[in-house]
Amino acid sequence: MAYTCYHCEHDVEKVRYVTFYNVNEEYNEPLCETCYAEWLESIKG
Ligand SMILES: [Zn+2]
Repeated sequence: MAYTCYHCEHDVEKVRYVTFYNVNEEYNEPLCETCYAEWLESIKG
């Protein structure tokens, strides 16, 4: 089964779920390896 990356919308076989925070809720979205790496960099500042 393939997953669709939340960020780049590519279909990938492996995704990582990351938690995003909205004003008063949190939600999980799947990211591909590339976007996950970029996301990690972004939260490091
Ligand atoms: Zn992606």
